[in-house]
Amino acid sequence: MNQKIRLRFAPSPTGFLHVGNLRTALFGYLLSKSLNGDFILRLEDTDQKREVTGALESLIKIMDWIGIKFSEGPHLGGDFGPYIQTERLAIYHDLSEQLIKEGKAYRCFCTSERLDAMRENQQAQKLAPRYDRACRDLSPEESEIKMIAGEKFVIRQKMPLDGEVKVFDELRGEIIFSAADLDDQVLIKSDGVPTYQFANIVDDHLMEITHVTRGDEWIPSFPKNVLLYDAFGWTAPKFFHLPLILNKGGGKLSKRQGDVFVEDYRAKGYLPEAIVNFCALLGWHPKSDQEFFTLQELEKEFSVSGMGVSPAVFDLEKLDFYNSYYLRQKTNQELLELCRHYLPNNFEEEFLLGVVSLAKDRLKKISDITELSGFFFELPNYDSSLLVWKTLSVSDSISNLRELKVILENKSFAWNKESLEELVFSWIKENDKKNGDYLWPLRVALSGEKNSPSPFEIAAVLGREESLNRINFSFTKI
Ligand code: GLU
Repeated sequence: MNQKIRLRFAPSPTGFLHVGNLRTALFGYLLSKSLNGDFILRLEDTDQKREVTGALESLIKIMDWIGIKFSEGPHLGGDFGPYIQTERLAIYHDLSEQLIKEGKAYRCFCTSERLDAMRENQQAQKLAPRYDRACRDLSPEESEIKMIAGEKFVIRQKMPLDGEVKVFDELRGEIIFSAADLDDQVLIKSDGVPTYQFANIVDDHLMEITHVTRGDEWIPSFPKNVLLYDAFGWTAPKFFHLPLILNKGGGKLSKRQGDVFVEDYRAKGYLPEAIVNFCALLGWHPKSDQEFFTLQELEKEFSVSGMGVSPAVFDLEKLDFYNSYYLRQKTNQELLELCRHYLPNNFEEEFLLGVVSLAKDRLKKISDITELSGFFFELPNYDSSLLVWKTLSVSDSISNLRELKVILENKSFAWNKESLEELVFSWIKENDKKNGDYLWPLRVALSGEKNSPSPFEIAAVLGREESLNRINFSFTKI
């Protein structure tokens, strides 16, 4: 029987979701889809000092918003639970005891004072900080006696003392480590709680995980993980270490240089479609030069062969590019729903629809609507000089506006963009005037802005009365 393919996302509940972790989750999810497998959520909450309350709930919410679906997890249950590591402490305890009995791990009773002194000494001698294995050769009896006497201890994994450790990364191939460089790492801390390195391996095995996607910052501890699988006699899953995500300057993505949390992007008005499309290309290359992918398309297209190892660059302009694209794909009604939170609520629906339709092409993120649409709700207090096109004077501009007002007020026509355009352009032509001398002042009178959509589009949304009022108002700028 073929083994069921199972992947997992195993975040620690330390707060908001880092974009790097989203990329890891997304790649795990897409890989699980491409291999027709399951995708599982497991909470790695063994580092309780760093835990943030409510992190699991907000994680589930943001994954749901992104569209990543799990088949098992703390919120869903499943046959391999519990899916929260602190609810699995007995499992780790029993398995670590098993390793001690088999001579593959040992209790270390060294005090923190001793370890500090040892480290200082190593530093002074310019040696790599490493546990000196003082407790490794305690006899089982000595170890039992100390434990029964109530001495505090951690459990450490016995690393081979020499030779090579060969590991295999699906994206990089074989990587060889020297055993002498490996520390006897802690598996269980003195409070009985396991380390990431232990709980993660135990759970991946017990949850029958077949493929692991994780960041390449885990490569240095990869040999220790593989040795732990060997110590238990378990088969290790396939590992895919995803390339680092760098900022545009080539440095690490850090909070100081801008937003690193998916929640920040959501709050600013980035669409999940854009974030997914953008993150999917941070380490995956499609076969064709297709640039836009929905999550559904990615679920079909994603494959191991497109995954690379060279560092991916987090380019905010690229994210804006995707976001503008997906915003433009929205209907006016959908866009209005997205923007509503940023718009005043005392205006008619049709007016608001007109407002968002005009901003659509210029929105990079939803929150931009505030700046792009403000003038529709209240005419800004603009300076008279803004009415001036090229060499025209303020009074010429205003007299041009007076002429336009007469036509707009007195001709009978349907007040919409097309008719307005037709009327004004033909009048300009018939009277041998220049477009800029009329259209610029008209646009400024209607918007009060240096940049805005065309005067006809604005007038159509503002309606006849408000448009004429605004033109009248421009006459006071003299
Ligand atoms: N809890 C680890 C983290 O948040 C999981 C890494 C892994 O996927 O193995 O980075």
